[in-house]
Order: sequence, then C-alpha cells, then structure tokens
Amino acid sequence: MLQLDFHPTGRHFLQIPGPSPVPDRILRAMSLPTIDHRGPEFGALGLKLMANMKAIFKTQHPVMIYPASGTGAWEAALVNTLSAGDHVLMYETGHFASLWFKLAARLGIKAELLGLPGAEGWRQGVDANKIEERLRQDPSHSIKAVCVVHNETSTGVTSNIAAVRRAIDNAKHPALLMVDTISGLASADYRHDEWGVDVTVSGSQKGLMLPPGMSFNALSPKAIEASKKSTMPKSFWAWDEMLEINKSGYYPYTPNTNLMYGLSEACDMILGQGLDVVFKRHVRWGEGVRAGVRAWGLPIQCADEALYSPILTGVMTPEGVDADAVRKIIYERFDCSLGTGLGKVKGKMFRIGHLGDCNDLTLIAALSACEMGLKLSGVQLNGSGVQAAMDYFSANPVPALIQNGRTAS
Ligand SMILES: *Cc1c(COP(=O)(O)O)cnc(C)c1O
Repeated sequence: MLQLDFHPTGRHFLQIPGPSPVPDRILRAMSLPTIDHRGPEFGALGLKLMANMKAIFKTQHPVMIYPASGTGAWEAALVNTLSAGDHVLMYETGHFASLWFKLAARLGIKAELLGLPGAEGWRQGVDANKIEERLRQDPSHSIKAVCVVHNETSTGVTSNIAAVRRAIDNAKHPALLMVDTISGLASADYRHDEWGVDVTVSGSQKGLMLPPGMSFNALSPKAIEASKKSTMPKSFWAWDEMLEINKSGYYPYTPNTNLMYGLSEACDMILGQGLDVVFKRHVRWGEGVRAGVRAWGLPIQCADEALYSPILTGVMTPEGVDADAVRKIIYERFDCSLGTGLGKVKGKMFRIGHLGDCNDLTLIAALSACEMGLKLSGVQLNGSGVQAAMDYFSANPVPALIQNGRTAS
C-alpha cells in the first residue's frame, strides 16, 4: 500500500510556492457531502462563486471556472481567442512563461518569445518597452495577443501589467493582453479591468489557498468578441456554452463540487478580510523573509527591488553548492518542503513560499530549517537569517486588524 502518512509528528512545513498550505477552515468546508450539480442548491453556489471571483479579479465581466489545473486555463485562454497560425508575443521571465510559450507552440500558434538571453532575464520582470518596440514593427497587426506572467513563480519576480497595457496602447496595437496570475491572484495586487487585461488566467492552489484542481479565465468584452471569430478547435474549454449556462449558476459538465465548497470558504475569508489587507500581509511576510536571506548574505533571485514577489522568495546558493542537495537535507532532517530551482536555474536556487495558511512563526520556523540545512551543507553564512526575520517581525507590528488575517475582537 502506498504510504501517505510518511511525515513524522507535527505538521509538515509545506513552504513551496504552491500548492500552498490549506487552512483548516477550507478543508472542513470541503468535507461536506457532495450535492446534485443540477439541483437547486448548486445554482446558488455557482452564482455566489462567480460574483465572488469577479470581486477577486476586480472585474465586472464573466469569470470561467474550470475543473482543471492552471495549465488547462492557459490552453483555454489561447484556444478561445486565436486561430491556427496566429502570431502571439510572449515574454520570458522564467520557467512558467517558457512553459506557456511551449504550450502555444504545441497548439500550432506562432509564438515569439521576447526577453533577455540566458539566465539573466530570470532575475527581471517584463520590459514593457521591448513589447512596445516589437508591436511598432507590426503595422499589419499580425500579432493577435501579448501574453505575460504577472507573478513568475519560478523566480519570485513580478511584472508591471499596467505598463504592458500602456505599451500596447502607445503602439496603437489591437492585440489582446493575456496575463497569467496563477500564483498572484488573491495574494498580490491584481486589477483585471483597471489594467485593461483581456484574459486573466489563474488557479486554485496558490494565493487562493485551495488544493490543486481548479482554474480560471477572467474575460473582457474584447476577448468575448475575439472568441466568436476564433477557429481553434475547442470543446471542453469553449467559453460560449459556459457563458450561457453560467448565467443560472450551472456548468455544461460536472464541476468539482467539493473544491467549490472550498472556494466559497476561501472567498469568504479573503473578501471578509478585504483584498488590501490580504495584499499587505503578503508584502510584510516577503519583507521578513528577505531580511533573513540578506542576513545570511545570499543573493535574492529577483534583481529588482521594485518587483519583489509578495508570494515567494528565490534564494540563490553560492557557486558549487547544489541547491537541490540543500533542499534534500532540509526535507529529510526537518520535514520542510522548499520549491526547487526550475529550468535554467535548476540547482542554483531554492524558493521559499510565503502564501496560504501561514504566519510570522511559520516563516521563522521555515527560515530556521533553511538556516540549519545551509549550515549542514557547508554554506558560510554571514549571520542568522532567523534572528533578522524575528527582528523584522518584532519591529514591524501590523495593526491588530490585519494580524495574520485575524480580525480584532
Ligand atoms: C503553478 C503555475 C502554473 C501551472 O499551473 P498548474 O496548476 O501546475 O497547471 C503556471 N503559471 C504559474 C505562474 C504558476 O505559478
């Protein structure tokens, strides 16, 4: 029999940047009995979730909810709006941006990848000027969409989506703007309508604090118009049928009912606290973790302070130290999972997640696991990151109202 209870006593420290630790409140909500997805209660649940998700995406327009991982919602965004052979512009900020690019190519879309060569681009966000420049070289408007990642989970670098919108507008180009915020939604500031995004792609298992298995497309009227002319083959992902039946809160197929209970609870928590409170909490956690990394004297993967991700921090290990060997020690000795270096940065860095069911002490504990693991791996540290994080969190109390998301009584 597969042994799934392989962790020792206490909670496992799931410090990867998604799936994030799921709050007990959400796990309990998901344990309720499954209901009839064609029955009266389901319609009410569906309508509530669609309204709540609009609030979280900050949009007035429809949000598709798919029983699929984020990759499915990536595909949905492309096949609903494009036609075979269409040209799209993408931007390599890290592993996830390159995976979306590969997915587009497999669909028969002519995808072009901008960005810095080598691993250097994996320390930066999207350079909107490069996008504007490229669009200006396309007077015939053969480029149908610009696709970027908002929170690059492989590096811990965010990108300025409003600047990308301005770049497209400055070039007076009609391309659609598609954004992946699979790991940014409900933990980093995001504004679908205000930033003029046409399709936003997201997923359940990161900022939304749910298990994997659910993903989203937030639409714009322009995206819906484009979908009427798109000729790429689609059936399961097709927006048209979904848009119609969603009006009454239902789905064309069996949705993942119990994950929807979880989503309902997550929305109550997030919207109950207020999105701004949720964003500030993650920013503060990021500051605390980075104070720790700086005290160790190790470089942070994100090279631009203005673009630090509030959701995760990438820690670069010194030349000659295999980051995955350090992660292995931390996992085996201290029961703590850290994110691996992906693609171009494999073995060169690890990632600490600061999202989901998390608080100051969880992060201090995670940093202590890292500190012990780094020392056991022979890495010379300048000082104690744990002490620095304790100092940061002590010196920077948050107003009672936003303390770890708990409302003051
Ligand atoms: C996690 C993630 C994905 C992939 O989502 P899956 O749910 O694993 O399919 C894509 N993009 C980003 C930015 C992610 O963080």
